[in-house]
Amino acid sequence: MATVEQHIEQEILAHNGVVHSGEEIAVENPATGATIATVPDMDAATVADLATRARLAQPAWDAYGFDGRGRILLRMQKWVMDNAERIIQTIVSETGKTYEDAQLAEISYGGGAFGFWAKHAEKYLADERVRTSSLLVKGRKLILRHQPLGLIGVIGPWNYPLTNSFGDCIPALMAGNSVILKPSEVTPLTSLLLAEGLRECGAPADVFAVATGRGETGAALIEQVDMIMFTGSTKTGRKVAEAAARRLIPASLELGGKDPMIVLSDADLERAANVATYYSMQNSGQTCISIERAYVEAPVYDEFVAKVSAKVRALRVGSPDGGFGTVEVGAITFPPQLETIKDHVADAVQKGARVLAGGKQVPGAGRFFEPTVLVDVDHSMKIMTEETFGPTLPIMKVADADEAVRLANDSPYGLGSSVFTRDTARGEAIARRLEAGAANVNDAMINYTVLELPMGGAKASGLGSRHGAGGIRKYCSQQAIVVTRLAMKKELFMYPYKSRTSRLLAGLFKVMYGRGKRD
Ligand code: NDP
Repeated sequence: MATVEQHIEQEILAHNGVVHSGEEIAVENPATGATIATVPDMDAATVADLATRARLAQPAWDAYGFDGRGRILLRMQKWVMDNAERIIQTIVSETGKTYEDAQLAEISYGGGAFGFWAKHAEKYLADERVRTSSLLVKGRKLILRHQPLGLIGVIGPWNYPLTNSFGDCIPALMAGNSVILKPSEVTPLTSLLLAEGLRECGAPADVFAVATGRGETGAALIEQVDMIMFTGSTKTGRKVAEAAARRLIPASLELGGKDPMIVLSDADLERAANVATYYSMQNSGQTCISIERAYVEAPVYDEFVAKVSAKVRALRVGSPDGGFGTVEVGAITFPPQLETIKDHVADAVQKGARVLAGGKQVPGAGRFFEPTVLVDVDHSMKIMTEETFGPTLPIMKVADADEAVRLANDSPYGLGSSVFTRDTARGEAIARRLEAGAANVNDAMINYTVLELPMGGAKASGLGSRHGAGGIRKYCSQQAIVVTRLAMKKELFMYPYKSRTSRLLAGLFKVMYGRGKRD
């Protein structure tokens, strides 16, 4: 009988329709170290060829209209559910994450997102009739129109092959664009599988393509597209923004984070400890909006630390191959990430931090790091200031909420954040002081599931956002249409200029804009 790995290789590569240009990339299972498949390393010429085909296919796709495209996306929603087991196995095999992490944060997101965009795209992109205060155009018909840009490039990371990579293609497609997705070289298989699903669900050929390859393939993609959606590190994000600027195409960037959690002394400590444990360790901490650091008011610090440490020590870490319910914390997907995690923990310990749980790489096959809690930490340590992206939670004692807010904002990043208090009005007031694209009161990370709300970063965490109206309008250009119906043969201000008319207009402007008190 074929192993899961062989099954994935045969099924996906037999049906992905991609061009083999010679070079290949080996895809590894991070939980076992075994090579599970190889995919083409596409060069710039291959990407250009995909782009030509995608551009040819786009007008007909746009002509499907919202109903036609929505029908295919709704079919795809059911396809994801019908093939959930296979998709989960593929995600688990290439990321090493647990079955639960794949199910909750990927399958459920995909299921929801296909339905959401199929249903809401038309509302977000419908023509808008605009009213104006400008006297010069009174009586005209004013329309704001959104139209697909044409060809969208999506470059994705390795932590969520469905949610963060493929997820951004859904609104781009629904808006009427063709899309080329460049998944991370580490995790390309899920994208290929979903491409197969789209074809089965009736998406026309070439409307969606997967460009497998490394960073160079991503760079080549930017040279071909009308807009680029990127998720990944701030360092690569800057390169993407520069390349987009050279071509004068829009770029939407979702970058790194160092999300703070604030626990006030009146918080429900049991809930705060459970949320801290789950959202710092979920997906082995490899989530852009995972809790990366906690600030706890002094009166409840000891109790919170004791609760979190006990919960983290109880977590099972290891290979997810046993299926549902066997481990809570899976593998570290990206080989260099393990070195970053070890470096941050070692740096903290060397500067005086104490390890209350975990702290070490798990010996043996695969890449695993023990779920780790650190205390006696401060902002001289990398673990409090740089993105760790691992199963670590450093906890710092603070005197009061003001100190917590100051430290939370003492970061180049500003993606997510959270504050815990029974006084929700105070929690909301503190949330408004946090320099972050999202702030949760008595919760964390959950804002990502609200597809009606924008999800994006402040400061070095990104530009633009996904989800909400902006999450689909960014894949469109805007056109202003002004229709003049009943009109005079000539407007008052047209040639020839006459002093009497000009004085009349001057008086008119004064009446319009010059009335009222001066301060
Ligand atoms: P990168 O930002 O380097 O990669 C993200 C994507 O961009 C990948 O598909 C990558 O391809 C591609 N890419 C790399 N170079 C270029 C380029 N010059 N032009 C266009 N595309 C390019 O992230 P990494 O995967 O290397 O992870 C590094 C760090 O990023 C992590 O340690 C973590 O801190 C952070 N990160 C943040 C994420 C988030 O959700 N915001 C997600 C993942 C990581 P390839 O993978 O083939 O090199």
